[in-house]
Amino acid sequence: MKLYNTLTRRVEPFRTHIPGKVGMYTCGPTVYHFAHIGNLRSYICEDILEKTLRYLGYDVKRVMNITDVGHLSSDADTGEDKMLAGAKREHKTVMEIADFYTKAFFSDMDKLNIKRPDVIEPATNCIPEFIHMIEVLLDKGYAYKAGENVYFDTSRLENYYVLGNQNEEELMVGVRDDVEEDTNKRNRNDFVLWFTKSKFEDQALKWDSPFGVGYPGWHIECSCIGLKHLGEYMDIHCGGVDNIFPHHTNEIAQSEAYLGHKWCNYWFHVHHLNDREGKMSKSKGNILTVSVLEEKGYDPLVYRFFCLQSHYRKPLEFSFEALDNASSAFQKLLRRTLQIAKEAEGKTEIDQAVFDEYKTRFKEAIGNDTNTSMALTVLYDVLKADTDAATKKALAESFDKVLSLDLFRERKEKAVQEEDSEFTAYIEEQIALRKAAKKEKNFAEADRIRSELLEKGIVLKDTREGTSWERV
Ligand code: AMP
Ligand code: ZN
Repeated sequence: MKLYNTLTRRVEPFRTHIPGKVGMYTCGPTVYHFAHIGNLRSYICEDILEKTLRYLGYDVKRVMNITDVGHLSSDADTGEDKMLAGAKREHKTVMEIADFYTKAFFSDMDKLNIKRPDVIEPATNCIPEFIHMIEVLLDKGYAYKAGENVYFDTSRLENYYVLGNQNEEELMVGVRDDVEEDTNKRNRNDFVLWFTKSKFEDQALKWDSPFGVGYPGWHIECSCIGLKHLGEYMDIHCGGVDNIFPHHTNEIAQSEAYLGHKWCNYWFHVHHLNDREGKMSKSKGNILTVSVLEEKGYDPLVYRFFCLQSHYRKPLEFSFEALDNASSAFQKLLRRTLQIAKEAEGKTEIDQAVFDEYKTRFKEAIGNDTNTSMALTVLYDVLKADTDAATKKALAESFDKVLSLDLFRERKEKAVQEEDSEFTAYIEEQIALRKAAKKEKNFAEADRIRSELLEKGIVLKDTREGTSWERV
């Protein structure tokens, strides 16, 4: 397995702390709103990573947090808690909001065939762990109290910008993002570990602590939840690229200050899904969700297929036109796999040599920094290979353990059949129109219909008995 590592900015051979075992952590959703399809791109790509590791024989333990407290509207620790804003917007309690959107999130994950992580932990479950880490950081001199909050002192670290190729000046602009600066901070990038004094006296969730009644900062939750379930050494930490700074940078700072050694070896970051106006983001409102796609008649797995067509390390531009193209390619793929399933019915013997050859090719593609478009190419090569249907089916089923496109699932068959019968009716109608055009000696129109069908992959054959058709 080779993996791009944000920490080293290179594709590297993947090595684990314990041979054969992977400890993997994923930053979970902030549950104040529905996940948009941009968030879900990150989770689809991380799912592919997890399933690739399992496919290659690793024993993976994956942990995900649920952010239900402490994520303020600006990553620079200012603004309102996003959960509180969600609760106000919907006239509900914070816990009701968290519960509702957590359920909605996992329902979307299921629709996209994203496996549930082995451990899912809401931040509000781990307050004692956060308090403990903050106490240790205060003891070791990495944290200080100011203005009744507790801050992490970034000047105590030799290399705070260990993650990624950050330019300090550029980052300052990102952090400020037209929010007022917190004058309690000793250094501009210091961040809050525990809030007791915020301008939001009505903060719904508060806990007692040695530093006063208050609530945790956002970054501390991922460090503590990671340590709680994966121990002192983590193999892979995942998230979208917007998490690199400040979230992941701060996670490294506090975890390594606490532990006194390196924490996580590989950092996996998914690039953004953009729409024409730029990065898709929950705070912009008007977001595209899985339900919106469903309302528009798309199978959610079309969106998964759309994501797999491109590499996770490239930004992906979303448009309905692009999704429609993915949808036709996906329907065509399903028609092929279902046809192969029919041909393979009752046949159990496979050509082992061919099976091994293509499986190796697939492993090489997906094991190369999860190159999903290359993996799809191997699947297409299998479908047109010069071998029997049973071998093709066995290979496609095997690849689907990673791709998770339900290539052989019954309900897909129904959708495809429905689509097929609509398409057949359309072809018959065009043939009748062409016949009528010919009768009126409108040969130009007859030719136009023929070429239009050809563009859709249908060839017409004129015989004495009439016109028949077949797929190219
Ligand atoms: P949030 O719920 O805002 O905490 O984000 C959940 C995950 O989605 C994080 O890993 C983010 O980095 C990621 N994310 C946010 N916006 C996008 C986007 N437009 N495209 C891809 N991933 C995103
Ligand atoms: Zn996180």
